[in-house]
Amino acid sequence: MCYAEQNRDNSEKECAFVFECDVAVVGGGPGGYVAAIRASQLGQSVCLIEKDRLGGTCLNRGCIPTKSLVAGMEAFALAKRLGEFGVEAKDVSVDFPKMIARKNKIVSRLRAGVGFLLKRGKIKVIAGTGRLVAPGRISVHTSEGPEEIKADNIIIATGSRPLVFPAFGYHGDNVITSDEALDFQEVPESLLVVGGGVIGCELAFIFAGLGSKVTVVDVMPTVLPMEDPDVSGFIQASLKKHGIDVMCGVKIESITCGDGEATALLDSGQKLAAKKVLLSVGRRANSEGLGLEELGIEVNRRGEIMVNERMETNIQNIYAIGDVVGNIMLAHVASHEGTVAANNIAGHRSCMAYDAVPGAIFTRPEVASVGLNESQAKEQGIHVKIGKFPFMASGKALAMGQTDGFVKIIADADSDVILGAHIVGPGATDLIPEPTVAVRTEMTVREFTDTIHAHPTLAEALGEAALAVHGKAIHV
Ligand SMILES: Cc1cc2nc3c(=O)[nH]c(=O)nc-3n(C[C@H](O)[C@H](O)[C@H](O)COP(=O)(O)OP(=O)(O)OC[C@H]3O[C@@H](n4cnc5c(N)ncnc54)[C@H](O)[C@@H]3O)c2cc1C
Repeated sequence: MCYAEQNRDNSEKECAFVFECDVAVVGGGPGGYVAAIRASQLGQSVCLIEKDRLGGTCLNRGCIPTKSLVAGMEAFALAKRLGEFGVEAKDVSVDFPKMIARKNKIVSRLRAGVGFLLKRGKIKVIAGTGRLVAPGRISVHTSEGPEEIKADNIIIATGSRPLVFPAFGYHGDNVITSDEALDFQEVPESLLVVGGGVIGCELAFIFAGLGSKVTVVDVMPTVLPMEDPDVSGFIQASLKKHGIDVMCGVKIESITCGDGEATALLDSGQKLAAKKVLLSVGRRANSEGLGLEELGIEVNRRGEIMVNERMETNIQNIYAIGDVVGNIMLAHVASHEGTVAANNIAGHRSCMAYDAVPGAIFTRPEVASVGLNESQAKEQGIHVKIGKFPFMASGKALAMGQTDGFVKIIADADSDVILGAHIVGPGATDLIPEPTVAVRTEMTVREFTDTIHAHPTLAEALGEAALAVHGKAIHV
């Protein structure tokens, strides 16, 4: 039960706490707000503390803003090749401020939606910065002064922020992170992207597609190094195909600013100048200033809160979820971890499993994956069988005019169980749920190929790649 209003009516002396509830969630991103809603659905009284805007990184400066801009860039790309489809359009150009305004409108609308869902769940939202002062007690710094919360359980969901190295001289003007890139007022003439991971590649494709001269630099031997080698190789080639310079295996020593641009000094002595240098070298958990040390909550050397599979920290009734635990920094992982934490608080035993987490990357073309990739399977000593199918042979892809890419399925050669699926191509991110179910349920290739795929669809490529595992693909 919530005592908030009742407590406010009482005198401060009589009541030590402004608000009492079963569950207090610190952070209103996709981890925190989903945890709050699930806890409320399970009958808990809940409050959520957010210091900035509901929706967190994902909604305000991550998933949704990037995908809104990807949609704008893709619309422009399609408009330029409408002639191929027998449609004539002249003088196609980009109105970037309008694209940004559209993005902001989508974000505002979704943010209002989160607020509505929390209200419907009777979740008390407190605008302020939370700090744990004792087990079950949070002090919140609000614009109207401090408030104190007493909660039987606490879920820490404070997320992450861009990682910036001092040598790179981040100041948000010429040297920026994704936070600033998503609020550009104009398309930069040139952009140097430091880091060819997911965020770096997505933003490289967005701004190159809108007219920037883009260079991607990474210390690793390839972009998207965590993906299947065939997929990262494909995206590296695709970056180049879209006019983006890619320099891998290269280290940046320092970045200096002057004359309205920034210059990066490489370890080879080469200098690269650009109007904007985008740092996308990783993210850091927001675990400082939360009172973790005082309470003895364990963090690792990267500052990520240590949790077990029930999302419990080492201190009873204190849970942590999402980017701040750093297991896999994705919105849907944060949300699922939030659900697991809320279930456990309500007495429903629930554990997190990370072996069938889908990944979606909004490059050109899109990438999606689940389970083991070829290198990982081989490192584990698994004897694998592989099936591949190119979108070039898909009738639907041909009709759509998007034939770049392939589906690759990895199976255990002995048991026939599907271990992983890797898609690079049109609609990849919307095709990944079917292989995710397959990996999650340890489906065999035979069972997968017994499933009928509608024609003509991009999903047929999944069925064909599975058939190819047994050397039985029909259309190649
Ligand atoms: C450019 C970009 C693109 C991305 N694209 C995707 C994508 O396509 N798909 C995907 O799955 N993931 C994507 N991500 C990752 C995704 O945004 C994060 O994994 C996700 O937001 C993590 O959710 P979270 O709830 O753990 O943390 P966050 O979303 O970071 O939310 C944490 C919240 O806690 C608040 N907070 C912090 N400290 C306190 C405090 N002391 N008191 C009160 N409030 C506090 C913050 O203000 C914030 O609102 C992207 C990220 C970026 C940067």
